[in-house]
Amino acid sequence: MNEKMLKLGKNRSAIREIFEFGNKLRAEIGAENVYDFSLGNPYPPAPDCLTETLEKLIKNPAVHAYTSAPGAQSVREAVANSISTRFGLAQPSSLIYMTAGAAASLCSVLSATVACKDDKVVVFAPYFPEYKVFIEATGATVSEVMCNDKFLLDRDNLEKALDKNVVALIINSPNNPTGAVYPKENLQEIFDLLEKKEKEYGHPIIVICDEPYRELVYGDIDVPYIPTMCKNSVVCYSYSKVMSLPGERIGYVAVSPNMDNAYDYFSAVCGAGRSLGYVCAPSLFQFAVAENIDKTSDFTTYANNGKTLYNHLTKLGLDCVNPDGAFYLFVKAPFLNAEEFCEKAKKYNILLVPSTSFGVSGYVRISYCVSEKTVNASLPAFTELMKEYK
Ligand code: PLP
Repeated sequence: MNEKMLKLGKNRSAIREIFEFGNKLRAEIGAENVYDFSLGNPYPPAPDCLTETLEKLIKNPAVHAYTSAPGAQSVREAVANSISTRFGLAQPSSLIYMTAGAAASLCSVLSATVACKDDKVVVFAPYFPEYKVFIEATGATVSEVMCNDKFLLDRDNLEKALDKNVVALIINSPNNPTGAVYPKENLQEIFDLLEKKEKEYGHPIIVICDEPYRELVYGDIDVPYIPTMCKNSVVCYSYSKVMSLPGERIGYVAVSPNMDNAYDYFSAVCGAGRSLGYVCAPSLFQFAVAENIDKTSDFTTYANNGKTLYNHLTKLGLDCVNPDGAFYLFVKAPFLNAEEFCEKAKKYNILLVPSTSFGVSGYVRISYCVSEKTVNASLPAFTELMKEYK
């Protein structure tokens, strides 16, 4: 048996652990009395037009056949056209690889990028905990770089970590767990530094853009499309969050046409997908998303929940980052003791995730992808919880 895999399988993620605790609590006291903010499971349904497409497609036996390993050509074209039209970068369909969600996109891209055991991949803390699992599976080492106090990318911290063994970094915007969206100037500082270091070390440093929340932003927030700013970049996209389809496992890898040796890199992604068994992404959903390519779920509930929680928690004296995107609120725990705060919250049936698994201490993550009713009902419970700190 592979000891590494055994350990991974036995140690469930902290988030899943809390979710399972929530299941027990729901059975005991009723779902309506549990304020479960643990998991990032989308709340609104998939767009109606997508459900209608599915009803039509499902009757067509051809839809259930294998597609080509990187996806059906018509689907890859629909994705490439959407990228070209929306972001003004001529994206060839021959550099699109359809995948089973962002997790499969990230694993394929990391496996295509990491070449030897000395390689390092940078992640910005706080970060999505599975990055560590995905990176270490390739044999590379994770190099953690702290964001600044506003949870934006920190150029100086990155410079300290950027030695010649760094082959890639992962940028996730809109961000899980902070809800931050990195502005253009913030990204530009990072890309200028990378360009300098690429010249110094004589090899590319690949920017892996993890984008499952791309369209999920509030107000007039611009999410820069990184491949228009940085040539050695590859996008790992997913329809899990924006079309509320996490169980269907559908997304894509888009290699930037400006990347050095873009077509060879794409072949390495195909090779990685093949070696991991990530070929021919779920065909029904390939065709379904292609027919509804620029549609999203209705994000009104998220916008309202974010506002309601931010206003209430800041009134209670908690220090939170006002989210620009995604559906998470990152809150500083009283006395920076996140574990204690989460334990106390459980007494009021509020389930939160401590930030330790995101690579920082002292914060909690609130996933507000729940109904507005649940958020409103949780407010008195938060008020009671905070009385413990008076
Ligand atoms: N990346 C981030 C930042 C996420 O939050 C998630 C899921 O929560 C994923 C990747 C994985 O997404 P998918 O369901 O598409 O595999």
